[in-house]
Amino acid sequence: MTAQRIDGKALAAQVRAEVAVRAAALTAAGRQPGLAVILVGANPASQVYVRNKVAACEQAGMRSILETYAATLHEADLLARIHTLNQDEAVHGILVQLPLPAHIDAHRVIEAISPRKDVDGFHVSSAGALMVGQPGFRPCTPLGCMRMLEHIGMGRLRGKHAVVVGRSNIVGKPMAMMLLAADATVTIAHSGTADLAAICRQADVLVAAVGKVGLITADMVKPGAVVIDVGMNRNAEGALCGDVDFGAVEQVAGWITPVPGGVGPMTIAMLLANTVQACEQF
Ligand code: NAP
Repeated sequence: MTAQRIDGKALAAQVRAEVAVRAAALTAAGRQPGLAVILVGANPASQVYVRNKVAACEQAGMRSILETYAATLHEADLLARIHTLNQDEAVHGILVQLPLPAHIDAHRVIEAISPRKDVDGFHVSSAGALMVGQPGFRPCTPLGCMRMLEHIGMGRLRGKHAVVVGRSNIVGKPMAMMLLAADATVTIAHSGTADLAAICRQADVLVAAVGKVGLITADMVKPGAVVIDVGMNRNAEGALCGDVDFGAVEQVAGWITPVPGGVGPMTIAMLLANTVQACEQF
């Protein structure tokens, strides 16, 4: 059996087209959605991510404000800038690209963003809203994964077991909460998990979000399972790849997301969706 691929690029294009329609309606009503993106320092990967987010924003007919600062920026100055953006009525979403330089407390910075503009969904109040099932912005990567599951008719997961490998605040934990909200039975695995293979083999939905090439091998996958690969790595040849041994796992899984062209494009699409939603709620 060869797994069916979940085409994140095509689905993201669909989401972006829907966002563009909503953005055009808001603009016509005199309220163009605006996203402020802040980059501190010159991390090359962050520069690429930020460029992609800004370009996607503009393609969807939204305004983007890109602010780049030297790595020496003082935390107090960044906080002051965020406070100003919080007050700016033309800015509906604020995103601070992570990681930040070591001398800046990322937690303090994220908490400074108004929850109404927290389109990354990293604020404690957004995380709390997810935890208790209240409305709020959901982190874009797990939200994109959920959208992919809905797309293949797996939006509701009652009676299904989902295993998330990875427990970061921005991917693993919110992913697990969203799967739970979709009625899955959820296991979160991490670097201290014993016999990861046996746990993964129980998964009807397996989400890999570690950042390790070849972490998920074919023997760790239940035949027919949905495998969602969040990982973004470079292999020995320097090519972009995920955490899943794609060629082998594709022979066992029922559905699989490729890297590139899977979760990555969905993350940006969901950022746009959150921003247009922020503007609609303004
Ligand atoms: P992170 O903060 O480094 O978290 C990685 C997680 O994996 C941690 O919970 C860690 O567990 C766990 N882990 C590490 N080694 C493990 C092992 N051997 N077995 C099981 N679990 C292990 O990373 P992140 O920000 O969540 O990102 C994870 C990956 O997703 C990265 O490759 C990143 O580039 C990618 N990513 C992709 C997108 C996208 O749009 N496609 C978006 C965000 C992130 P411990 O806590 O126990 O150490």
